[in-house]
Amino acid sequence: MEQVARKIQMVDLVAQYEKIQPEIDAAVLNVIRSAAFINGPEVKAFQAELEAFLGVKHVIPCANGTDALQIVMMALGLKPGDEVITASFTYVATAEVIALLGLSPVLVDVYPGTFDINIEAVEKAITPKTKAIVPVHLFGQCADMDRLMALARKHNLFVIEDTAQAIGADYTGSDGVKRKAGTIGHAGCTSFFPSKNLGCYGDGGAMYTNDDELAKKLRMIANHGQSVQYVHDSIGVNSRLDSIQAAILRIKLRHLNDYAAARNKVADYYDKALGNNPKLKTPERVKHSNHVFHQYTLQLNGVDRQQLRDHLQAKGIPSMIYYPIPLHMQKAYLDPRYKAGDFPVTEALCASVLSLPIHTELDETTLKYITDSVLEFVNK
Ligand SMILES: *Cc1c(COP(=O)(O)O)cnc(C)c1O
Repeated sequence: MEQVARKIQMVDLVAQYEKIQPEIDAAVLNVIRSAAFINGPEVKAFQAELEAFLGVKHVIPCANGTDALQIVMMALGLKPGDEVITASFTYVATAEVIALLGLSPVLVDVYPGTFDINIEAVEKAITPKTKAIVPVHLFGQCADMDRLMALARKHNLFVIEDTAQAIGADYTGSDGVKRKAGTIGHAGCTSFFPSKNLGCYGDGGAMYTNDDELAKKLRMIANHGQSVQYVHDSIGVNSRLDSIQAAILRIKLRHLNDYAAARNKVADYYDKALGNNPKLKTPERVKHSNHVFHQYTLQLNGVDRQQLRDHLQAKGIPSMIYYPIPLHMQKAYLDPRYKAGDFPVTEALCASVLSLPIHTELDETTLKYITDSVLEFVNK
C-alpha cells in the first residue's frame, strides 16, 4: 500500500487556508487596520452576499449556530411547555436550545438510509401543544421538506431548518423549483464553526428568513432586544458575528461551490470503492436534494467498529462516530417519556455509524490509501 505524504485529518483547514492565504491575510489585516471590529462594513457585505447566494430575503448573522436556533425560537414567541419536534439522531445543540427555553423537546426517529427526520414519525408526534418542527439536514443532505411543510401547514406549525451541516445544498421541490437548504421553512439556522462546510476561523452563525417581520425580530433579539439604541422592546441576547470572521467568510463563500464539488468527488470515490461490500452501507442519496457531504458516514454491518477504528488509527487514518449516544439516552436529556428501544433506528445508527475523513483537500492517492485500509480490515 502506498504511504501518503500529508498527515490525514478529518478536516484539513491548514491546507485549505494555504490556497487562499494572500486573500485571507489581506482581508484580516484590512479589518484590523480599519478597527471596525463589530458590525463593520464586512459584516454587512457578507450578509448581502450570502442573501444573494442563498436567494433569501434576509440573512441575520449571529455568534454561532446554537444561538441562531435559540434566537429563532425566541422570536417565534414559543412559550414554556410548547412542544417542538426534532430528530433523535442529531447534534445536541438542536435539543439543547429547546430545553433551555423551557420548551418541550419531542424526539422522533430518522430514516435509516439518509439519517433524516422520519416524516411519518413527525406526524404521529403532533399534539395540540406542538408549535414547531426542527428538521436537521444531517451530514449535508436535505430532509423531505415538501412533506414536512405540508404537515406544518395542516397543523399550523413553524418549521425551523437546522442547516448547520448543509449550507449550499439545493432542495428540489415537487414543483421542480430548486431552493437552498434553510430557505424553505419559516427560518433557517446555520453555523460557521471552522469545520463546517462554510467555516470561519472562530465561531459564527446566521439565521435566514423570507419573512420581513420575523427578520426584524431576529435582528432585535440578537442585539439585546433593542429596537433603537438604548430602547429595549423585548429581552434579547448579545449574539454577533465579528468583522474579521465576516471578512474571512466573504472570501470562502466565493469558493463554496468548489468546496462542495471537492467533497462530492471524495464521496463518489468512497461510494465506488466501498459501495459493493455487504459489510458496509454507504450513505443513501435522495432525489429531492443534492448532497454537500459535511460528513461521509458509513454504517457497519458485522464489523467491530472499535477494532476498525484502531486499525485505521494505526495507519494514520482518523475516523469519528457522529453520534455515539442517542439524545434520549444522554444524561442531560433523560425524560420519563422516553426509554431505550423507543427510537430503534437512531439506536442502531449510534451503534454502527463511522464517518471517514472528508474535506476539500483529499487527493486520490490518499483516498485509495484510506479505502484500501478500510477494506483490508473489513475483508480479513
Ligand atoms: C454545528 C451544529 C450546530 C451548532 O453550531 P455551533 O456554531 O457550534 O453553535 C447545530 N446543529 C447542528 C446539526 C450542527 O452540526
